[in-house]
Amino acid sequence: MIWYPYEQMKGMKAPYKIIDAEGVCLYTEDQKLIDSVSSWWSVIHGYKHPELNRAIETQLGKFAHVMLGGLTHEPVQRLTQKLQQFLPGDLDYCFYSDSGSVAVEVALKMALQYFMNRGETGRTMVLALEHAYHGDTFKTMETGDDEDYHFVLKAYGESKYVVHIPTEISALENAFETYHDRLNCFIVEPLLQGAGGMRMYDISFLKRARELCDRYGVLLIFDEVATGFGRTGNRFVADLVLPDILVLGKALTGGYIGHAVTAANEKVFRGFYDDDPAHALMHGPTFMGNALACSVALRSVELFEEQDYMSKIHTIEEITRREMDGFSDPRIKEIRIMGACVCLEVYDSATIKGYQQFAYDRGVFSRPFLNYLYAMVPYVIREEELVKVLQTMKEWFGR
Ligand SMILES: *Cc1c(COP(=O)(O)O)cnc(C)c1O
Repeated sequence: MIWYPYEQMKGMKAPYKIIDAEGVCLYTEDQKLIDSVSSWWSVIHGYKHPELNRAIETQLGKFAHVMLGGLTHEPVQRLTQKLQQFLPGDLDYCFYSDSGSVAVEVALKMALQYFMNRGETGRTMVLALEHAYHGDTFKTMETGDDEDYHFVLKAYGESKYVVHIPTEISALENAFETYHDRLNCFIVEPLLQGAGGMRMYDISFLKRARELCDRYGVLLIFDEVATGFGRTGNRFVADLVLPDILVLGKALTGGYIGHAVTAANEKVFRGFYDDDPAHALMHGPTFMGNALACSVALRSVELFEEQDYMSKIHTIEEITRREMDGFSDPRIKEIRIMGACVCLEVYDSATIKGYQQFAYDRGVFSRPFLNYLYAMVPYVIREEELVKVLQTMKEWFGR
């Protein structure tokens, strides 16, 4: 029995069985579907991409995997070189892991140990955002703020170690005033909070956060697992405000294989680099730096640069704004658009119940959750395909 994610297995609707996938489309026995979810926002180049396939096949002919403990290899070295050049600022120190959640855990551990290594053992707290989502492992659940995902944590009561604030500058300033000497980091999904409901906020909040982190010596962590590689209309939000630690996942491998990176800046790295062996970062996922993942990630980043993906993303945003212009419905609370993300938030989750099948019948795969009907399409989508995705959303309200 397959135990499916985020589902009450009793009475669960049968999932659609995919038998092939190519470009932006998924194929079932009886339907061709434009994937408006990009397999949880990761498949930015579409499926069965010839160049990405080739990158993996070539590496597979050599070896699929060797551990990174005491060994190294060309794919991980080349990817790291590429990321050093591609990522903003001095986020040059790349720690790999097999999923976004683990990469966030690594970032949180780095921030805590950074201060422990300096003898500042009182900095045990993390500042985070309301409605944050940082993964499903225990510390990332605690750092997140979403009852719908993490209500199991209620068993432990209020966390002493995490404070959640709204994306308001006054709340930010108050939190720093109250907790600054106990905080090791402030972690955010910058500009766009994904799983917490596609909530969007202003860059001024992050600029102020950077100032306050600098003033009080707190590390700033950007969880760009979802926002990285163009989703917000910026390559990385880190291009606008530079964090101390940047976490990337999802689209890192073009959605081919689970892999993630925690990229730290020089200052953080220096906090571990000394003569004391106890100051080393004690972490090492079995599959970190997997050779197939690194090979496909390298090719994915190259494609992103060579084929000017940022202009594709800007076109997606333009088309989305054009199609949504003037559209409204009394059941819709807000329509939010940022880069290649569009979200229709409804007042009542019952409003979008049945949408998935409605979209399926029209050749679109969608997975609304709670009060959110959204699309995060692969960047290679053609105009008519994108229009179809958006028209289908609008049609649902026009029934
Ligand atoms: C998906 C996601 C994660 C978790 O990544 P996994 O690979 O599913 O563990 C963490 N942070 C954010 C912002 C995400 O969207």
